[in-house]
Amino acid sequence: MSRRFWNELTTRLEPYTPGEQPQIEKLLKLNTNESPYPPSPRVLDALRAVDGDDLLRYPDPASKELRQTVADHHGIHVDSVFVGNGSDEVLSHVFQGLLKQQRELLFPDISYSFYPVWCQLHDVLYRQIPLREDFSLHPDDYDSSAAAVILPNPNAPTGLLLPLEGIRQFLDAAPDRLLVVDEAYIDFGGQSAIPLLAQYDNLLVVQTLSKSRALAGLRIGLAFGSPELIEGLVRIKDSFNSYPLDVVAQRAGVEAYRDTAWFAQCCRKVVESRESLSRNLAALGFEVLPSSANFVFVKHASVSGKEIFEALREQGVIVRRWDKPRISEYLRISVGTGEQCAGLLTTLESVLAVLK
Ligand code: PMP
Repeated sequence: MSRRFWNELTTRLEPYTPGEQPQIEKLLKLNTNESPYPPSPRVLDALRAVDGDDLLRYPDPASKELRQTVADHHGIHVDSVFVGNGSDEVLSHVFQGLLKQQRELLFPDISYSFYPVWCQLHDVLYRQIPLREDFSLHPDDYDSSAAAVILPNPNAPTGLLLPLEGIRQFLDAAPDRLLVVDEAYIDFGGQSAIPLLAQYDNLLVVQTLSKSRALAGLRIGLAFGSPELIEGLVRIKDSFNSYPLDVVAQRAGVEAYRDTAWFAQCCRKVVESRESLSRNLAALGFEVLPSSANFVFVKHASVSGKEIFEALREQGVIVRRWDKPRISEYLRISVGTGEQCAGLLTTLESVLAVLK
């Protein structure tokens, strides 16, 4: 007789399905929005300088140098900065520590598909608010009596940006409602809400070093908020593991923030690539949503998204697609280097010639 050790949650939970990470060479991987450019050479130097003595000791549990560097970069107090192993871990702490309330958490239907999974994991009461017909997001659609709102800005997977004025409207509409802005993609043309922290204590901003700072492999995420909100996250974190980031990640993160020129140049190149990719995709018959992120969200005028997705895959080009209402015809394509975008476009042309 088999014994069941699973509990009710593990049986009913529909886990988050991350983008594929195929370990095959010669693949054009445009499915998980990593940086197409490497991290700053200063980061690589810092990694090479790590020696045995650094590794045999436990890391600084407070990640003080990294938090201070990030705080200085944004001109805020170090007590307003939290770090974790990627923004996914930071967000998990946010759901557990700040969003589990008697009243509902609201977030857009369509947004980051991990949000409902965290709600299930941490027993958070939630309601999804449909985006408007054109996928835009409006502060008036969100009930001011809710406990909290979380939204990615720019939104994922649409890439649409809510200008700072819209964020301000959310904050003004309900001073007792917490607003969490997930700014994973903010560096590709958006304006961060971090400066609004000086005026609003109902704001928490989450960012990552995985995209614009090219460190997805090291797992570094950040949260910015009032010292009270950050203290709430620290309590949750300390209960799990009081050493949130390893020695290597802390050192690399510091250098990634210090090399502002490298960062600015990588962001600029991604934005340029995105704009020319968008024009070229439109010329191939795609409707391209105006993106402020390092990916584009596109739908072909006459060929189904699923067919294009599968045909690209056969040619070794991996993009992202969801079998979900409203977006099943769309593909999300990460912006690559100029060369990668050219490779994608050539493959798309030949695929479309067959499918049309
Ligand atoms: N938020 C959004 C909207 C994302 O798309 C992602 C990346 N999948 C994350 C957070 C998490 O990124 P990371 O854990 O690499 O920081």
